[in-house]
Amino acid sequence: MILNYGDVGPITMKQKCSKCDMQAIFFRKYSGEKLCKNCFSGSILQKTSKTISKYKMIKRGNDVAVAVSGGKDSLVLLHILNKISRKLDFNIKAITIDEGIKGYRDEALQIAHTFCKQLKIEHHVYSYKKLFKLTLEDALDLRKSKMSACSICGTLRRRAIDIAAKDINHNIVATAHNLDDQIQTFIINMISGDVNKIGFMHPDSTTNRIKPFSEIYESEIVFFAYINNIPFQSEPCPHMNEGIRTQIREFVNMLEKEHTGIKNNLLKSILKISNTTKKLYGKEKKMCINCGNLCSNDICSVCSVRSQITKT
Ligand code: SF4
Ligand SMILES: [Zn+2]
Ligand SMILES: [Zn+2]
Repeated sequence: MILNYGDVGPITMKQKCSKCDMQAIFFRKYSGEKLCKNCFSGSILQKTSKTISKYKMIKRGNDVAVAVSGGKDSLVLLHILNKISRKLDFNIKAITIDEGIKGYRDEALQIAHTFCKQLKIEHHVYSYKKLFKLTLEDALDLRKSKMSACSICGTLRRRAIDIAAKDINHNIVATAHNLDDQIQTFIINMISGDVNKIGFMHPDSTTNRIKPFSEIYESEIVFFAYINNIPFQSEPCPHMNEGIRTQIREFVNMLEKEHTGIKNNLLKSILKISNTTKKLYGKEKKMCINCGNLCSNDICSVCSVRSQITKT
């Protein structure tokens, strides 16, 4: 049997785990480790715990709202945080945002609901329709500017998650953004000239939004879900290729294939740059003149999206 998964190198059945006597099923190309199922799963748990403690993301007794979309990353995050919460003694609840994307979100909602029930974690669903009086599909029909579906959706989702977390009294929000997402976001911010947003990418820049997977390759999270039988929605969102993110993902994956470990190096650079940018562009928070939410300009991003949806 040969496994060759994304950033993972090929491995044959005969090779032993670098940490124990079991048979290796995974070759972590950038570190040279060959790992069996248990040691690989343990390493993901350890990496996550290390990121949490390095950036002091969660303290004992905290209430953490985990944003669960029903995709692989968020369900793996819920699974891992559930395990860590017993050791670190913090509380978790799951929130799912229903954007109102026909034929896509329903399956994900069902998977998230069943998984939370299995883990005995409270699950709360909030919809764009209820919070913003329109679904994503309504917003796309109304849009007259060139904004991509993901820019509109991402802006609304951030606000929806904040509202949901506040509503269930869980002041820390954990999202499943992984190392690949971080790199893509950095490049997108560079391309769009949003240099000030790079400052907000540093894990120290916010206290209530945490990304415990920000130092883990996406391919390793997929592999974790696969070997631990974590169900997830495999059907992609019909709008995912509208933005530039997919092209950037493919480009960075191609670089990683040729130059093993390049993603880890990129992340190190991003952390240094975002730390400096945070100090340079750190603006004082203002109140949106429309809705009163905290933001860095006169009008918050949600109100700005709303005005662009209806602009004639
Ligand atoms: S791919 Fe884009 S449009 Fe689809 S759910 Fe994600 S952010 Fe929203
Ligand atoms: Zn092992
Ligand atoms: Zn506003």
